[in-house]
Amino acid sequence: MREKIAVLFLDRDGTINHDIGTYVRHRDEFRLIERADDAVAMAVAAGFHVIIITNQAGLAKGIMDEVQLDEVHAYMNELFMKKGGRFDKAYYCPSHPDYPHPVYDRFLNCRKPGTGMVERAIEEYRTKGMEVDMQRSFFVGDKAVDIECARNSGLRPVLVRTGYGEEEACRRKHLVPEYVARDLYDAVHGYILKQ
Ligand SMILES: [Mg+2]
Repeated sequence: MREKIAVLFLDRDGTINHDIGTYVRHRDEFRLIERADDAVAMAVAAGFHVIIITNQAGLAKGIMDEVQLDEVHAYMNELFMKKGGRFDKAYYCPSHPDYPHPVYDRFLNCRKPGTGMVERAIEEYRTKGMEVDMQRSFFVGDKAVDIECARNSGLRPVLVRTGYGEEEACRRKHLVPEYVARDLYDAVHGYILKQ
């Protein structure tokens, strides 16, 4: 019998950190959105596992490399841990349909709204004896592709208005988030922890 776990899947840019309009390559370009670290700490304290799900096509475009990306993610976890939170793993999709890449092209199905990264996370928990409880697991993001990825994965979608906050794009695509939050803190404190 596997342990059932609740997982908070988080988009990164525009949800946790300010979207700077290009790829974050260095820790000094990574700026937390206000109280995002508190939100992660609260979720962890409430028993959630936290996973990052992020499209990072700057890899296929040659704008950054994986060493830089891993360093940014290590820094993000340092910031979370200062508040008592943490994420278990950051899954990133390196590929982009417009930038053919000999290695990354086999990862094309991972690009959100594709569900490859979420499926991989669920599978990796399974190999560690944990079963993701989809009824208690959420996906928070600032774009329609995040809401679509959540729906396609069977996760409960929450849209944040920081970053792109694509409420109109969601409406056009008939994607209905469970909740539209001011920011990640409101998503966790004002909605997810009240479920
Ligand atoms: Mg985003």
